[in-house]
Amino acid sequence: MFLKVNSKLKFVDAHIHLSDSEYAKKIEMLLHEANKSNVVALVSNSMDLQTSLDSLKLSEKYPMRVYAALGIHPWTINHMLPEERQSIVELIHNQRSNENFVALGEIGLDVKNLKKEELNKLQLEVFHEMLGIAEKLGLPVIVHSRGTTAQVIEILPSFKIKRVLLHWFSYPKSLLPIIVERGYYITEGPPTLYSHGIREIVKQIPLENFLTETDGPVRFFHEPFKGKMTVPSFIPLIVRAVAEIKGMQTRKVADQIFKNFMDFFGISLL
Ligand SMILES: [Zn+2]
Repeated sequence: MFLKVNSKLKFVDAHIHLSDSEYAKKIEMLLHEANKSNVVALVSNSMDLQTSLDSLKLSEKYPMRVYAALGIHPWTINHMLPEERQSIVELIHNQRSNENFVALGEIGLDVKNLKKEELNKLQLEVFHEMLGIAEKLGLPVIVHSRGTTAQVIEILPSFKIKRVLLHWFSYPKSLLPIIVERGYYITEGPPTLYSHGIREIVKQIPLENFLTETDGPVRFFHEPFKGKMTVPSFIPLIVRAVAEIKGMQTRKVADQIFKNFMDFFGISLL
């Protein structure tokens, strides 16, 4: 008996900032490289109004390959005028039935805002607003929780949001059981190849709760990424590292992550 097997592995980048100015004029090249590396789908995360509009444009230009996540990042709230914030909220509502718009992101809380009372108040207000919209529209959220994961974990149950992704989860590891119990996902990227802490997390997190990311254009200063622009073609290396850490076949890891991507964002790429 001959079984027809599709031998092509498929990879995904659940968290990249394609609308970042560093990628301007490089998108064609970057997507061409991604294609050659079998990275078949990317989610372009946004920071503010302009990047949200640009993420949407990219998702329309490259349907079924680039998907848009819209939202307000905690790093941009400091200088954001109330009108801009309002425009983002309106944009999100207007795009609710756009199939290319798959999540709110990147939203969340950052440790550096904690130190300034006003800023912390504002980031909490914006985060709550974004979560409220996600609940209302039934969308997944991609959360930035640098140094604030415990708070984020405490806030999330106040909203009926089923699909939560904690991007670049790094600490504290003691929160992993509750993350898994609630069915949340985490993403890891290039540090999977060299960071002891991240490798430990990858070892502990069930593959069913895991997705891959690059967080480009963030740069990485360890080999093999040193001196290189961060691109989605890094993903196969990350998946291979995950397989090695977990003692599994790369194919099994890639297939599960691909399935997770479709489940999490509610899309079909088959
Ligand atoms: Zn990011």
